[in-house]
Amino acid sequence: MMTRRDAIKTVALTAGAFTLAPSLLRGENEEKLTYPYKLPDLGYSYDALEPHIDTLTMQIHHDKHHNAYVENLNKALAEADPKYQKLTLEELLTELDQLPEKIRTPVRNNAGGHYNHSLFWLTLKKNEGGKPTGELATAIDKKFSSYDEFKKKLSEASAKVFGSGWGWLVLNGKELEVTSTPNQDSPISKHQVPLFGIDVWEHSYYLKHQNRRPQYIEAFWSVLNWDYVDDRYKKAMA
Ligand code: MN
Repeated sequence: MMTRRDAIKTVALTAGAFTLAPSLLRGENEEKLTYPYKLPDLGYSYDALEPHIDTLTMQIHHDKHHNAYVENLNKALAEADPKYQKLTLEELLTELDQLPEKIRTPVRNNAGGHYNHSLFWLTLKKNEGGKPTGELATAIDKKFSSYDEFKKKLSEASAKVFGSGWGWLVLNGKELEVTSTPNQDSPISKHQVPLFGIDVWEHSYYLKHQNRRPQYIEAFWSVLNWDYVDDRYKKAMA
């Protein structure tokens, strides 16, 4: 049984032991994201991704689903020892096994949901058939042999997630990888850097595409903001 004193020591020792360098997700004015968490603005209008992702889906996804993760994360942390309120969103997710059992699962689900969706909105923009450029394009060709092969691999990984979850392009160390996670698990809990993810929870596509997940995944490729992803890759590799 871990005493409170041990717990404090553990958190002090491990918080920051693993940091994404530099922090790849920040709040307003480049502040680190900490408790109490806020729902970030979408950054564009709900209809900005039409016809690929419809207005009502964006509205409910952002205002209701993402907001619920934020509220439930704040609720879990409000009842926890204040020292856990001082950790950043990234620290919470990279140190899940150090958290008290009482808040571990709610933090895993809701900090994960908050992180994954905050990243998701940043990575969306109608791209008019755009593709990665520069260093990322080179790295994708090197790892997956071509953009089309990469797209196929990530589409398949996303399509076959059983139930709810995410397909991802991540950096594992300095290596690009296609992966997936169940529920709201975030790659950063596995010390990977998510470059972008495809949200395959039904809430992200059901109104427009009903049960046709592959159709939604195909539409997703038209709204991926490669400028943001290219930039994120550069920062993560620096
Ligand atoms: Mn979602």
